[in-house]
Parts: sequence; structure tokens; C-alpha cells
Amino acid sequence: MALPMTADLHTHTAFSDGTDSPAQLLAAAREAGLTTIALTDHDTAGGWDETAAQVPTGMRVLPGAEFSTKHPDADGALVSVHLLGYLFDRHDEGVAGEWKRMKDERAGRGARIVENLIDGGYPITLERVREIAGVSSISRPHIARALMEAGAVESVGAAFDDLLHDGSPYYTALRSTSLAEGVAMISAAGGVPVIAHPRARVAARVLTADVIESLIPAGLAGLEVRHPDHDEAARSELADIASNLGLLQTGSSDYHGANKVLRIGQERTPDDVVDRIVELGAVAPFTG
Ligand code: AMP
Ligand code: MN
Ligand code: MN
Ligand code: MN
Repeated sequence: MALPMTADLHTHTAFSDGTDSPAQLLAAAREAGLTTIALTDHDTAGGWDETAAQVPTGMRVLPGAEFSTKHPDADGALVSVHLLGYLFDRHDEGVAGEWKRMKDERAGRGARIVENLIDGGYPITLERVREIAGVSSISRPHIARALMEAGAVESVGAAFDDLLHDGSPYYTALRSTSLAEGVAMISAAGGVPVIAHPRARVAARVLTADVIESLIPAGLAGLEVRHPDHDEAARSELADIASNLGLLQTGSSDYHGANKVLRIGQERTPDDVVDRIVELGAVAPFTG
């Protein structure tokens, strides 16, 4: 018998760069037949309270976040690596301090990218980008939407390909915590660290089996093996690494509402893996 798979452990709301409210996210999850989701907005627990207050009966939400970190490649260039942290204490000094720093930094950085684009002749305004971001700090998908509205690009994806990718002259990087510090920070806050999409985009360049193994003493608990950006070869390679190192294997959609073309629940995590994460975490899941 196949293992029950009723959980999607990687989702975003409008508290970061998704488009759903917590209520819409929960409705979408239910519609997809999920009974467990993790809320993993980028670098914020801003959506936790609103979500906790609305969990329907029979559903469970693991509060979490997707932490932005960096790890050097062979040439010493810093490469972006995302870390999922589940069930940590959001008031922990390490996490709260890191997020305060990032929020302050993001405000200036978002405005800089927008100014660069305006100087380059793109017809967007900082005011409109701020409106699109709403309660969230400005992130690139918000700028992409403004560019789309202004008719400068066809889609969010095209905005990234043409104007917002890391190598673009309009782009400005954010200073990030190192990957090892991120794992230690989530662990110290009682959370469960899992590397997000280790074979998607640039992270694949730095996340060798050795680097992954080196994070285990700091508390690394798992790898997101099944993700929409992973092909079959990546999935089987990651499954091997995880099983050799005794790491948990998760599967998740990385749902962003209308900001990405994918379905919530299209990748899932087996229930026994979810149970293990819940055992390890310092905070209890939100239930209806
Ligand atoms: P930022 O945190 O402002 O640097 O923006 C990064 C976010 O942009 C990531 O978390 C992704 O959700 C999103 N993103 C990155 N590349 C793309 C892409 N090609 N298409 C759509 N969204 C993307
Ligand atoms: Mn995102
Ligand atoms: Mn990510
Ligand atoms: Mn994500």
C-alpha cells in the first residue's frame, strides 16, 4: 500500500511573495485534498497569527518560514541557498534579530532596484511597487508584477529572465546569513531545518553531498527532494544523499498563488515524515 501523502510543506502567502491570503491558502489546500500544510513565507512569521486563527477542522498547519542564506562556490562567489525552518520559536533572539536586519535592508534594496529600472526607462513607480507588496517587504516578484502591469514584460517569469535575474544590471543583492549559520539559528530556536529545492537554480552548484553532510552537526534534518524545479535525475540523486546521511525527505509544491504556475499539493510529503518533523519541532502545529 502506498504511504498516505496528505501534506504540502512549502507554501507562500501575500505575507511574502505569494498572492493568497491565509484564508485563500487554506481553502486552496482543502480543495486539493491536503490535510497538512506548512506555511513558509520568506524570512517572516507575519502570516502565522492570521493563519492559526482560521485553520478549518481536520486541517493542520506547521508554522515555518523559508530563510534566505548564502554559501560560497568553488571560486568564493556567494550563491543563494534557501532553508525551510519548521516549528521554531519566532521570538527567539537569533531569528528575530536576523529578520529585523533583513527587513531594514530589504526596504532600501527594493527601492534601489526600482530606481535602477526607472533610470533605465521602465515606466514603473516605487509607490505602485509598495502597493503591490502590501504588508510584505518588497521582493522581486512584486517588482515583476509592476513591470507586467506597465506592459514592459509579458509575465513574472519574463521579468526575471530579462530584468530581475541575479546577473542583471538592475539587480542589487541582499546581504545574507551563511547556510551553516542559518541551520544553527533554526536549530537554536527549536526548529527543524530542511534545505529547500537543493537542485533548483544556482544552489545545485554548491550543495554537494559533502556540504550537506557538514550541516548535520548543526542540526540539518532533511532535504526537499521532490520539488517542481527538480527533474527525475535530481530527485534520485537527492534521495540517495538523504538516505546515506539519514536525512528526512520531503516533497512540496512551493505554492505562490498566482505568482508561479504550479498547483498546491502537486508534490507531497509522506505522513510519517511529517510526524517526525512534528516530534522534532519546539512549537505545536496549528489545528482547527
Ligand atoms: P528576492 O527575495 O527579492 O531576491 O526575490 C526572490 C524570489 O523571487 C524568490 O523567492 C522566488 O520566489 C522568486 N523568483 C526567483 N526567480 C524567479 C523566476 N524566474 N520566476 C518567478 N519567480 C522567481
Ligand atoms: Mn518566493
Ligand atoms: Mn525558495
Ligand atoms: Mn519558496
